[in-house]
Amino acid sequence: MKNYHADSNGYYGPFGGAFIPDELKENIDRLARSYVAILESPKFKTEFAALLKDYAGRPSPLYFAPRLSAKYGARIYLKREELNHTGSHKINNALGQILLAKEMGCTHIIAETGAGQHGVATATVCAMLGLKCTIYMGAVDVERQALNVARMKMLGAAVESVTTGGATLKDAVDVALSYWISHPDAYYLLGSAVGPHPFPDLVARLQAVISEEIRTQLHEQEGREQPDCVIACIGGGSNAAGAFYHFLDDERVRLIQVEAGGHGTEGHEHAASITCGQEGILHGSRSMVLFDEKGEVREPYSISAGLDYPGIGPLHAYLALTGRSTVLTATDRQALEAARELSQLEGIIPAIESAHALAALPQLTFRPDEVVVVNVSGRGDKDMPTYLREFGL
Ligand SMILES: *Cc1c(COP(=O)(O)O)cnc(C)c1O
Repeated sequence: MKNYHADSNGYYGPFGGAFIPDELKENIDRLARSYVAILESPKFKTEFAALLKDYAGRPSPLYFAPRLSAKYGARIYLKREELNHTGSHKINNALGQILLAKEMGCTHIIAETGAGQHGVATATVCAMLGLKCTIYMGAVDVERQALNVARMKMLGAAVESVTTGGATLKDAVDVALSYWISHPDAYYLLGSAVGPHPFPDLVARLQAVISEEIRTQLHEQEGREQPDCVIACIGGGSNAAGAFYHFLDDERVRLIQVEAGGHGTEGHEHAASITCGQEGILHGSRSMVLFDEKGEVREPYSISAGLDYPGIGPLHAYLALTGRSTVLTATDRQALEAARELSQLEGIIPAIESAHALAALPQLTFRPDEVVVVNVSGRGDKDMPTYLREFGL
């Protein structure tokens, strides 16, 4: 049987590792040496569980969606990550890493953000603990996610608008990493299952609470712990890693990853790193990356700021390589239609990122008794300007 967990050097098959400049080596090595022991200590477990429950509002419900189920002919459940404090799954990781940063004695927290959900989650946990917080965000995203920028400022964080490159998530990560190289005492609170080892495994472990709860909740509602199918969108891969985590080794569970197809994968305006990318190194790890003809990282495109990234976490590249997962894409249009459908069939307005996962439903075939879990990673408030514009509301 294959092993879908990182080895001690952070490799998932050929993917992962830590390709970092010397200036960061000491910091990252220290994190890599200590994170498992800290995460598994009784003190961390108690504090993390208490914050997830009383601060984030977990467990998030697992909702059987009757009208969506009738439409697609399966037993469809929605994992309601959009109901978490701050509106997405990002708070799970932010709470866990802020406890880790505190344990390691760091007082200045830096982070990148795309849709702004990770920036808001990080600003939130920094406010909660009284820590200095700087958020790097591409100028394009600052514009299209104005509500989240205002939230970060309200929470007392400094928001640095990044104008280099395409001025989106990749560029924000570049600038955050270079700040970290010159200020290695800061703690870089990475928001997805990407970056150098140990971040992909660290983030996956902190998000694993999603599938841990799915097991318990399905046991209560269906009399068995494992679904037949789990569907999640992938930007860097953190919500998918969390939703898949406890089912990775259970081959009975179909894992579906949905990438942002933008204007379509025939052209170059998309963010489908697995479907259209090649092996390469981006932001400290080896994975699937979108390159242009000159071998430079290509500007990705997606209507969704949270999926607009030219790489993907190494776990996800490996799941695709081994055939453990099925990789689909959803175009902007398909995601928009899926967002409208969920809103009007179930009364839940999803984030445009999560709508990509929902857009997998019409692309798949199900047995009538098949138990399907779709991870609704976030809520759509931040995307209302997009929905207003696209639907002419
Ligand atoms: C950030 C974000 C994503 C994409 O990031 P992953 O790390 O792939 O989960 C998806 N959905 C929402 C709501 C987000 O905020």
